[in-house]
Amino acid sequence: MTTITKNLTNTPKALPPSDQLGFGQHFSDHMFVAKYTEGKGWSEASVVPYGPLSLDPGASVFHYGQALFEGMKAFRKESGEVVFFRPEFNYHRLAEGAARLCLEAPPMDLFMEGLHQVVAADERWIPKGPNTSLYIRPTLIGSEPFLGVRPSRETLFFILLSPVGSYYSEGTKPIKIWTEEKYLRAAPGGLGAVKAGANYASSLKAALEAKKKGYAQVLWLDVEHQGIEEVGTMNVFFVFDNEIVTPALNGSILSGGTRDAILQLLRSKNLPVVERRITITEVVDRLAKGELKEAFGTGTAAVISPVGVLHYQGKDWTINNNENGPLSTQLYNEITAIQRGAQADTLNWLVPL
Ligand code: PMP
Repeated sequence: MTTITKNLTNTPKALPPSDQLGFGQHFSDHMFVAKYTEGKGWSEASVVPYGPLSLDPGASVFHYGQALFEGMKAFRKESGEVVFFRPEFNYHRLAEGAARLCLEAPPMDLFMEGLHQVVAADERWIPKGPNTSLYIRPTLIGSEPFLGVRPSRETLFFILLSPVGSYYSEGTKPIKIWTEEKYLRAAPGGLGAVKAGANYASSLKAALEAKKKGYAQVLWLDVEHQGIEEVGTMNVFFVFDNEIVTPALNGSILSGGTRDAILQLLRSKNLPVVERRITITEVVDRLAKGELKEAFGTGTAAVISPVGVLHYQGKDWTINNNENGPLSTQLYNEITAIQRGAQADTLNWLVPL
């Protein structure tokens, strides 16, 4: 494997107060970087002080958007031990996304070793407080300076670390969602199934307009403005009186690690969960009939985020009295208890540092 060198900072920063972390506002003392060059392979793998990258302004990432990232977490268990949550899931998703974007994915051992070494160097940055964790952002960008449109022959891989608290200022309280019918996040054959920076660029305008109208996030529909895809930067689950439904991975939905963990948990409890196409018309019809008990988004950042109000075509529908529902509360409590070591990790999700 590529050798990893270490150049640790002489000027460590003061830690932010763990009860005021917010999300993604602080970066730790170090980052991991490595470079791939066609014909040469991976080199310059190192843990270095966190700071600006030096990139040629002609680099492909600035012009053609060759950028892909991951979002994952490390936790400090109540015992003090540090664990990663399902890092292999994130590695595989990164590798699949890299293939779609014509970037080079690092080999799994370089990814895992870089991850362990940078988190070990910044272990003091893993917060201890309730609802806190270390958010980890592995990123790949095309760094070759060349203005013709073709895949970059160089990939830069870096890992950033950010101690975080709650993603939404509402915490785990239900949020208001706007069903988006003007803008699309993704379409079949596009980039929706991978964590390309471009997906987030295309989603910003809808989120901004929804926010101005008083909604925290948007519910994304498919090209026919019918099939439900995702909610903001989360996958979505609908709890009906007789089944729990999440949209099937249709090629334009991101395969979430939290979605997958929740499917595993629900199946381990023999609850009737199905992955299938579900339309906004079905959701609204069943809401009107009183069959929709809960709806929630799932993602690494917020874990579970209940939907309290769903706006569709001029009407605000209230779900579960705009309160936290029993199933989303139970799932949130179980996943966070496993992450903290307060409940046995029977599904083998945790990897020690
Ligand atoms: N969909 C989108 C568009 C996302 O950005 C995320 C966050 N990564 C998710 C779903 C949830 O994925 P995960 O559970 O792996 O965080």
